[in-house]
Amino acid sequence: MNRLFFFLFFLFNLTLFADTNGIYDIRGSSPQLDANLTTFLDIWRHDTITPIQEGNYTNVRVNGKADAKRVALTFDDSPDENNTDKVLDILKHYQVQAGFFMIGQAMEDLNATAVTRASNEGHLVLNHSFTHPRLSALSSEEVAYELNTTSERINTLTGHYPLLMRPPYGSINQKTVDTINAQGFTAILWSLDSLDWALQDKNAIIENVITHVRNGDIILMHSGRANNSSVEALPEIIEKLTEMGYSFLRLDELLGIRAYR
Ligand SMILES: [Zn+2]
Repeated sequence: MNRLFFFLFFLFNLTLFADTNGIYDIRGSSPQLDANLTTFLDIWRHDTITPIQEGNYTNVRVNGKADAKRVALTFDDSPDENNTDKVLDILKHYQVQAGFFMIGQAMEDLNATAVTRASNEGHLVLNHSFTHPRLSALSSEEVAYELNTTSERINTLTGHYPLLMRPPYGSINQKTVDTINAQGFTAILWSLDSLDWALQDKNAIIENVITHVRNGDIILMHSGRANNSSVEALPEIIEKLTEMGYSFLRLDELLGIRAYR
């Protein structure tokens, strides 16, 4: 009886541990990164992650489970007329599926074909707001407009209404999170920043990802107009992580949640 009790107690603690400590700190650094930017990022990461780890923000996801060598690739700031297609070509070549957090306003004319292509090729097309503002600086009504307009536009193009959103710049506060939840969305941050947006250097991006990767990481990359170096780095990132034993899951599979309404 005692043994059973201690075993159950052990299991209970394990569960408790997983719930409270399962949220990663955000990683990603490079000797090539400017010292001021590194300091800024450290402060931002601490201020953003602490309330999530302490349970003050509900329904904000940072990473998946740590129990297996699985990661999810995510790409922000598409669609554009160039890099989104290149990223899709690379993912197709390696048979990897990813999540694209897309900007509603950018889904015009030619760019719209990248939205439907990403969806048709099995990737998640998700919500990165309509105009890419800092949501924490907006009213609840404005945040709701940013989210709903974008998901409606994605639904028109793909037939799927995304419920996963990524706040531009990762900019959230209690009010933003409450509004995101009230509108039926789940906020998705990341646990590994490739820093592709700051480094603009293929090898530095690859090195950063390879040295900092953990089981369950949500990896932040970009596939917008300015992100040529992300395209250059992506094949080796996929190859090296595969060599290290990692497999790539879609975000909804990694997190065990629904991506669409
Ligand atoms: Zn963005």
